[in-house]
Amino acid sequence: MFSRISKDMNENKLNLKGLSLKELEEFLVRLGEKKYKSRQLFKWIYDKGLTDFKKMSDLSKSLIQKLEEKAYIQSIKKLKSLKSKDGSTEKFLYELEDMEKIESVLIKDGKRKTLCISTQVGCGLGCLFCATGRMGFKRNLTSGETIDQIISIKRHLDPDEKITNLVLMGMGEPLLNYDNTLKAIGIMKSELGLGFASRKITLSTAGIVPGIYRLADDRLKIKLAVSLNAASDDLRSHLMPVNKRYPLKELLGAAKYYAKKTDQRMTFEYLLMKNTNDSKKDALDLSKIVRGISCKINLIPYNRVPDLPFEKPDEESIKKFREMLYPRCPAVTLRMSKGEDIQAACGQLRIMSP
Ligand code: SF4
Repeated sequence: MFSRISKDMNENKLNLKGLSLKELEEFLVRLGEKKYKSRQLFKWIYDKGLTDFKKMSDLSKSLIQKLEEKAYIQSIKKLKSLKSKDGSTEKFLYELEDMEKIESVLIKDGKRKTLCISTQVGCGLGCLFCATGRMGFKRNLTSGETIDQIISIKRHLDPDEKITNLVLMGMGEPLLNYDNTLKAIGIMKSELGLGFASRKITLSTAGIVPGIYRLADDRLKIKLAVSLNAASDDLRSHLMPVNKRYPLKELLGAAKYYAKKTDQRMTFEYLLMKNTNDSKKDALDLSKIVRGISCKINLIPYNRVPDLPFEKPDEESIKKFREMLYPRCPAVTLRMSKGEDIQAACGQLRIMSP
């Protein structure tokens, strides 16, 4: 209801949330204003998170009046949040302007606060182990909706708390929403906007090969994580149908290109699933296929998703898998997912009921 009312009120006005600095400049010039004022406006929207032009204290009265007539600043609406028992993880449910819903997850680990954001409503890639994949694809998020997850959660934190890392790893495949995601990353990185260093932003992909090349050539220098999960085409195509379109050889070639072009080590995520991809042979094959790529392998024991047949391996199998990999692969980490009890861990995001 909230969204419908605000939509009617804002009809024929431009939503400024999600516009780049250049687009804001062009908009202000169309209003007969000076370009430099876009910097003030940009800061108010993204750094301060304001939606009310009247509260932007360094804008002139005449500009505020023009902005109120021609524009508005849309916000996603927080419907609910859920905290894990150990307090380390909090999941947020948001409603968008068209009543669609998305989730974001905040993970606290000492001073490190990592925010995992969504880039699509649902996901069309249908990975067998993933709750979001079961929802199917609804639509892409706009750059404003992607950014607004960060602004909203910043507001939710205590004044002495700060989001330190961003991961585009929530619902959806970011490289299938390339332009909007890239624009959002520009705002995340902008000093006038959210001010995150490139190395604090990680984009995770299921393996959209043309998108990886494009991202490398766009030289954003953000971190790339590829969700690998299998070391053979047969198994990967079974678990992740996207592999039929972009098989391992092509994907690993693109990953190598990204690491070289951006001069950084990339990450391969490997969800460990009991009796599926956790054998000694799987570990050996994995160590072979990533040889020659500057990378780290991040092992993530699977988190149970209701109605899906996959399970987490026992501690001993996880240990053995890791020992087979290291030192064959020079960098192997084991990430015990947080937030499993609130269905907020990797692969568990699916819309909670409001
Ligand atoms: Fe989509 Fe990622 Fe889930 Fe695969 S794992 S279905 S790419 S959200």
